[in-house]
Amino acid sequence: MTIVLGGGISGLSAAYYAANNARNSAVILLEASSRVGGWIQSKTSPTGAIFEQGPRTIRPVGLAGKNTLNLVEDLQLSNKLIHIGQSHPATRNRLIYADEALHLLPASLKGIFKTISLLDRPLINYLWTDLKAPKISKEDDSIYNFVQRRLGQDIADNIISPIICGICAGDARKISVNFLFKSLFEAEQKYGSIVKGILANRLKKVFSKSKDTVKENNAANLHLTLADIAEKERWALWGLEGGLEQLPQALANNLRERGVKIQTKAKCEKLTFKSNHIELLINGNIQECSRVISSLPAKNLAELVQEQHPTLSAELEVIPTVTVGVVNFEFQGDVLPLQAFGFLVPPKENLPLLGVIFDSCVFPHKSSTVLTVMMGGAWFEKYFGPNPSEEQLLTTAIDHTKNILCIEEEPVAYNVAVLKDCIPQHVVGHTQRIKRIHDYISAHHIPLRLCGSSYQGVGLNDVILSAKQAVCDIVQ
Ligand SMILES: Cc1cc2nc3c(=O)[nH]c(=O)nc-3n(C[C@H](O)[C@H](O)[C@H](O)COP(=O)(O)OP(=O)(O)OC[C@H]3O[C@@H](n4cnc5c(N)ncnc54)[C@H](O)[C@@H]3O)c2cc1C
Repeated sequence: MTIVLGGGISGLSAAYYAANNARNSAVILLEASSRVGGWIQSKTSPTGAIFEQGPRTIRPVGLAGKNTLNLVEDLQLSNKLIHIGQSHPATRNRLIYADEALHLLPASLKGIFKTISLLDRPLINYLWTDLKAPKISKEDDSIYNFVQRRLGQDIADNIISPIICGICAGDARKISVNFLFKSLFEAEQKYGSIVKGILANRLKKVFSKSKDTVKENNAANLHLTLADIAEKERWALWGLEGGLEQLPQALANNLRERGVKIQTKAKCEKLTFKSNHIELLINGNIQECSRVISSLPAKNLAELVQEQHPTLSAELEVIPTVTVGVVNFEFQGDVLPLQAFGFLVPPKENLPLLGVIFDSCVFPHKSSTVLTVMMGGAWFEKYFGPNPSEEQLLTTAIDHTKNILCIEEEPVAYNVAVLKDCIPQHVVGHTQRIKRIHDYISAHHIPLRLCGSSYQGVGLNDVILSAKQAVCDIVQ
């Protein structure tokens, strides 16, 4: 029997892939809280607008993006899928708020030849800095240091730091470049420059493309999957009508229909690996199984294995997390100065806001404007202390948002949430740490596999793919 720990999207996906595998006789999923879905939570305003407390959009690209679309198709959710393309204003218009003004980032190759209001010269000029900067051989570095030495401090402060706030609510001075921007880091380490590395990779692709064309031609007449359509139509982003929470709900329904037992309010308190089985302490009772897939945040898993495997526990324990304050707003009518995905705030602005997403520009709702304000992240305690009230978060969000976007109206509806420890931080040395964790598990023949946002990336695509890989691994 396989037990999956955690009923967020990654645990549900792991149970789904395990149930698909004929060699998994029985699968049980244990979730500590009273609901499944983890950080995915869609709420509805009185007018029917969707307030996403957690994730809202998914990118369709790459192996991981295609894998999620395949899952959506298998769950028969394709008819609920909504998407936007490359020319949509929410794809093209991405803003940074700095020096008391909103600045547009270039949306195309042409844009890098023009001076943008955020920087004092066109982006193309910064590429010269990269070509001239010496290579520094390293195993890893922070994204901030890497960008500062290759492209200059302006780009590190004004562009990359806010982008990192948008990706993981984190501090670019701590996040690992070898993990998050692996191909750029490898370009420096191998070719001595980002530009040279990108050109070399482009050339390699051109040469391998002729082979792919043969494959594509052969496949041209076959049935087009959702992932094929997304690629063909060049989707930029997708979501689900009625909210993203339908994805974990559809997974849970599918699992129940196939006899997978989902136990909520079932907190695992300890794992003990015996010679031929595993004992799990759940709400004070012992349950047994032959293998465990954990989708728990690394810190939570660390507690469960602390007694029997202190070395493993110590490695898991130090993967940090950050807390995000989320406030969703609905305003009547169109109150925005322009149509865009939203804006991000560089940490050097010393504001409690990480950024604001213009939800209703991406997926419109009647005639109202829906916004989500993300706050705190790596700086949560600095701006809000250990225990802020909802009132404090709401006032901070509304005051800054109205001021930055010159909104005079009051919101007609709102939702406030503090998402404690919601995003793991893949800090410098993360890749090596993950290798040590996997090496330990395999050297000690522990029938345990890991998935979820602590390890291979925080995006929904990453955590779903990590679940598929964990199942493959444990079955083998
Ligand atoms: C505000 C926010 C916005 C985001 N936006 C996006 C986005 O737009 N696009 C995108 O791709 N990604 C986004 N993400 C990232 C993505 O939502 C998460 O990385 C993903 O949902 C994590 O899923 P998970 O299953 O790995 O973890 P979780 O959702 O944390 O699930 C883990 C589960 O384990 C349970 N658990 C914990 N301890 C125990 C225990 N001892 N026993 C049993 N159960 C336990 C928890 O209750 C929880 O349900 C966002 C994240 C946040 C927080």
